[in-house]
Amino acid sequence: MIPAPERIREYEGLPEEILISRIAALRDRYKDNVCVLAHLYQRRSISQLANFVGDSYGLSRSAANFKGGEYIVFCGVRFMAESAAILCRSDQHVLHPEPEAGCPMADMASIEETSRAWSALTRTGGTLVPVTYMNSTADIKSFCGELGGTICTSSNALKTFEWAFKRGERVFFLPDEHLGRNTAKQFGIVPDDIATWDPNKPDGGGEDYESAKVILWRGYCPVHQKFTSRDVEHIRRFYPDAKVVVHPECPQEVVDRADAVGSTDFIGKFVATTKPGDKIFIGTEINLVQNLQTQYPDRLIAKLHRSLCLTMYQISLARLLLTLENLEAFDRVVVPNKTAHFARVALDRMLSIH
Ligand code: SF4
Repeated sequence: MIPAPERIREYEGLPEEILISRIAALRDRYKDNVCVLAHLYQRRSISQLANFVGDSYGLSRSAANFKGGEYIVFCGVRFMAESAAILCRSDQHVLHPEPEAGCPMADMASIEETSRAWSALTRTGGTLVPVTYMNSTADIKSFCGELGGTICTSSNALKTFEWAFKRGERVFFLPDEHLGRNTAKQFGIVPDDIATWDPNKPDGGGEDYESAKVILWRGYCPVHQKFTSRDVEHIRRFYPDAKVVVHPECPQEVVDRADAVGSTDFIGKFVATTKPGDKIFIGTEINLVQNLQTQYPDRLIAKLHRSLCLTMYQISLARLLLTLENLEAFDRVVVPNKTAHFARVALDRMLSIH
């Protein structure tokens, strides 16, 4: 069941405190039968009502380890809900409060485009290991699992490069060019050994794929792509004693100028190490920044630039309540068996690499 627009409008018209109290009452009633998972980029009103809040890696683990009952309600974007559906028990159901909420970066690599690139690149010689970022569709995860590759998150990308280079001479990394480039640099790969595959060009862009050690898919996160080196320079000029911490989905010029770089989980831990009165500017999605502001009111915590993820924002209290009130009727997240099988192979490899 996809809720009718008038039903959604009716719920969206309810005051926030009513929505929150009805969701909290349902959660108390369902107890262990329902697990609500929320990504760190969800607004605070939603993450406060979740059983677990985390990054995509942490939430995958939570879905895989949920020993309770039948339902997992996933407040995040579609690829995350798909991963939960692949990792949870077969008698459990994953529900996504807004099935239209996809990740634009994940959608930049379709299975057709990826297969075409793979055929062309494997003809250029040397063993190629496919590695996809967690932010990819189930089809792409399955593709990597079937071809001996794996999945990485922003927390374990470096270890994943080590893993991949023990298995092959070259890595095909998708869909985030920036995470791939930042990780390749950390791993010690020089820019001349990196090529980019642009799915919008018939030959990928015609770069020297034969001698490249790392081939990066030309995809990006529209939120993190917006940060620039000028943003960091601006902070340095006006707040010379401030610290800048950014996510590795940011362009390399930003990462190179930051004081620290890491996953959403890392950013939270980085802020925890600062002292009252410190100034910290953060290059990632705004809801994480706002949650940290609430958690540490005694320091100046601010965004590096405007950074709302519009698709994460599609998950609202109204949609969460509608889902919880209609558990049995709500559409389940379904991943076809063969896709789920090989995606699980890749996800299990990822969980073992961390
Ligand atoms: S922040 Fe970027 S990578 Fe994360 S869900 Fe939004 S668009 Fe996708």
